Amino acid sequence: MKCPTCSSKRTASVSLTDGLTAQKCENCDGQWIPHKNYEAWQKSLTEIQAEKPFTEVQFEVEDQTGARLCPDCGKILLKYKVGHGLNFFVDYCSACGGIWLDKNEWQALEAQNLHDELHRIFSTAWQKQIREENLAQTMESVFKKRFGEESYSKIKDIREWINEHPQKDQLLAFLTE
Ligand SMILES: [Zn+2]
Ligand SMILES: [Zn+2]
Repeated sequence: MKCPTCSSKRTASVSLTDGLTAQKCENCDGQWIPHKNYEAWQKSLTEIQAEKPFTEVQFEVEDQTGARLCPDCGKILLKYKVGHGLNFFVDYCSACGGIWLDKNEWQALEAQNLHDELHRIFSTAWQKQIREENLAQTMESVFKKRFGEESYSKIKDIREWINEHPQKDQLLAFLTE
């Protein structure tokens, strides 16, 4: 394998977890998971393993920028944001399904228990959810700035209370009278 990040050819087979092998670049510590490896591992997973709780460990992740080519089929790798508390991108080959992880990304995914859901990160539904999460966070900071921390927290409580009230419509009508 030629490393898509640093072009090194010094690679070694490594076991990411039980039943999943990747090619690791010995120069930059990035890891390539061929689609067939990932698929076979997914099939072997049991429900019990998926129930593992989150751990609080943080990993330093060095996201590399720049275009990369798939080491298996030569197509351009696409970047997908992970989200859910992880602020980095995973590279994915939409042609052959291979996955590229930079140094420590696997460990970070594993700590958040997202490693066995890697394939879902590349789905439209996952990406849409992240955009909505980001938008909600942006709006929150906009309103905080506009109203001030204290008023914002107060108006948020009121909004919540109204939304859950059985006479919501009447309350709103009263407020805007
Ligand atoms: Zn490398
Ligand atoms: Zn490929």
